[in-house]
Amino acid sequence: MFATLRVSAASAAAALRPLARSLAELVWPPRCAGCREPTDAEPFCAVCAGALLAVSSGCVRCGLPGPDAACSACLASPPAFAAVRAGGLYGGPLADAVHAFKYGDRPALARPLGAWLAGRVALPECAAIASVPLGRRRRIDRGYDQAALLADELASAAGRGSDRLRGALLRIRETPPQVGRGRPERVRNVRGAFWASGAVEGREVALVDDVVTTGATADAAARALLDAGAVRVTIVALARAE
Ligand SMILES: [Zn+2]
Ligand SMILES: [Zn+2]
Repeated sequence: MFATLRVSAASAAAALRPLARSLAELVWPPRCAGCREPTDAEPFCAVCAGALLAVSSGCVRCGLPGPDAACSACLASPPAFAAVRAGGLYGGPLADAVHAFKYGDRPALARPLGAWLAGRVALPECAAIASVPLGRRRRIDRGYDQAALLADELASAAGRGSDRLRGALLRIRETPPQVGRGRPERVRNVRGAFWASGAVEGREVALVDDVVTTGATADAAARALLDAGAVRVTIVALARAE
């Protein structure tokens, strides 16, 4: 009986979380996604905006910072996606923002970050806008799917709401977090973890994620989209990690 009570208290707390979150957002002023100081210019205050690292040059396929040519990993084994377009390099205020958005229970950052990304990255014309989905368990634990929220806000800020394609890509297998793993292990970890519906058939797809690190997750997700008949997949992310 006590166990039952504990479980219902936990689910009641989970149910109240979105309410508490919206009340907090009404009361608190907008805060910088990097340093959390109050700011009128979301997502970044002037100091953090000045400290962002731009993507200057990199691998034409996976976006790995370096010369503007295919990197050795892409030459040896080309990824399923055609290119990566990222708002900035992972680090400094952008890393803090991505971390707060993913792990800091701040889903409301989707709107300013989506608008910021829309101003920095051109979406491929006519492409359907999908997102790399979380597994069911992680979505329940976190209370939201950050890449899906980001894709919603990016599409709307770019005036491409009608191209937003929800639910066409699913994670059919829960995978352990990629953090702290090397590339070969990441590749094995996510192989076959995604499934895409026929809604992408014949379409180019802009696949939205928060951060691209080795590209292993993006590659597995893009492969599922191509298997379902998508003609080309471009990854669009807030940040590209080195
Ligand atoms: Zn700041
Ligand atoms: Zn590459």
